[in-house]
Amino acid sequence: MVDDRRIMATLLVTKLHPVGRYALGVLFSDTHDSILPLRELRAHCPCEDCTASRGSSDGSGAGSARHEVADLQQIGEQTIFLRWGDGHETLYVADELRGLCRCAYCAGEPNYPITRQ
Ligand SMILES: [Zn+2]
Ligand SMILES: [Zn+2]
Repeated sequence: MVDDRRIMATLLVTKLHPVGRYALGVLFSDTHDSILPLRELRAHCPCEDCTASRGSSDGSGAGSARHEVADLQQIGEQTIFLRWGDGHETLYVADELRGLCRCAYCAGEPNYPITRQ
């Protein structure tokens, strides 16, 4: 059922589904299903404010409002919108979300050749 041509095409978000209180499930258009911890999503927020302040050590505070999702929406096929408990807003595109996936497949894939001779 998987059409190989779509794997090289633009990655889209097919479906969002909450996973408990602390993670977000994302089903991608290539049928990959990622479980992304909310604190990772917040920690890697690609907005200018977060990018600028990254490296300064204020990223702790697990379990606080900054790691709670107040609102979650899918915008079009490629973008998701998150509003956090502290009022901060984050936009992620599908490629960025996929880059945060730490599953065995995504974590192990790039560094090893498929075949050994
Ligand atoms: Zn941000
Ligand atoms: Zn993955």
